[in-house]
Amino acid sequence: MKNKNIIKIKLILLILLFNTNIITSAQEIINPEETEIWEPTPLIIDTFNRSIPSDAIILFNKKSLDKWKRLDGSKALWSVEKDTFTIKPGTGDIITNQEFTDVQLHIEWRTPIVEDTMGQNRGNSGIYFQQRYELQILDSFENKTYINGQAGSIYKQFSPLVNASKGPDIWQTYDIVFIAPTFNIDKSIKTNASMTVFHNGVLIQFNSILKGSTTYIGQPEYESHEKDSILLQDHGSKVSFRNIWVREL
Ligand code: MG
Repeated sequence: MKNKNIIKIKLILLILLFNTNIITSAQEIINPEETEIWEPTPLIIDTFNRSIPSDAIILFNKKSLDKWKRLDGSKALWSVEKDTFTIKPGTGDIITNQEFTDVQLHIEWRTPIVEDTMGQNRGNSGIYFQQRYELQILDSFENKTYINGQAGSIYKQFSPLVNASKGPDIWQTYDIVFIAPTFNIDKSIKTNASMTVFHNGVLIQFNSILKGSTTYIGQPEYESHEKDSILLQDHGSKVSFRNIWVREL
């Protein structure tokens, strides 16, 4: 008899527990406000001006390269015509006057029509974040080269997920999210750099975690540095650029 009572009590407790759970679940469902966040509201950005976000820093104003300079600090010598500018081979890389850490960058580029030039010499340039981490620019339309050096590669570290290249003399776009690396006080690496890239609107790099500076020879390594300029590479090809803007993240 005593045992029967204990079993009864246990059953009642179980039923109570089960009902309580239902009530708790029901409460969660009927209180959607509990998971709503209202403050702080995201900054309002408009993109009415040719799709350029209102908080973007424009790095090319169609008229001059006054946001850019040579590595020695002197005036950039690349040629400006209409609303574009073009690499003047042999005059060297150019860098932004302003230094950056994490950014969203939009850039439009066009490789020249060249004959009898293949591989890495066909429309080669590149965007180096913080002067160290290169996203390759190359004419990769029917132009064979090593895949971790074709257009959209993070040079010699990550091949693009797909080849979204258009041919020479056609404008192409990159939209890039670059997250800068951070370093410990002892100058060792704390968090790696990363890149996500859309090429002509197609995802080609997704949160690629960089192994260090992109280098032509040898394995990549990190060396401690502060915020730094964005660099455009003079690799001897007459690559053109237009509509460049950046948002600090
Ligand atoms: Mg390059």
